[in-house]
Amino acid sequence: MSHDHGAAFGIACTHVLERKRPVNLVAHAPDGTWDFICGEEDEEHDDVNKLHSLCAGCGFEAFVDGLEMADLQVGWMAERPGAGARWVVRPMTQQELQDYEED
Ligand SMILES: [Zn+2]
Ligand SMILES: [Zn+2]
Repeated sequence: MSHDHGAAFGIACTHVLERKRPVNLVAHAPDGTWDFICGEEDEEHDDVNKLHSLCAGCGFEAFVDGLEMADLQVGWMAERPGAGARWVVRPMTQQELQDYEED
């Protein structure tokens, strides 16, 4: 284990956790938590009962390649078009930040 286990938490969708789909969206939310999402349109992503919490460091080690926790400041996110593609790291838009505050 190369991280401070339990220092940061995040959520993953079922698709990622069950390895049905790769992580294609990683977000470092304004409250400091992390999202590991397959990035496909899916109503499950809006259902908190279908999202699972996990240690953020474990999430990176288990599901994310080509991206490090240090690459994403609070309020930033990374997306890629598919497994093996290059990550695009960017600050969240005002709208995306607002969506987090409403949750
Ligand atoms: Zn951990
Ligand atoms: Zn998903």
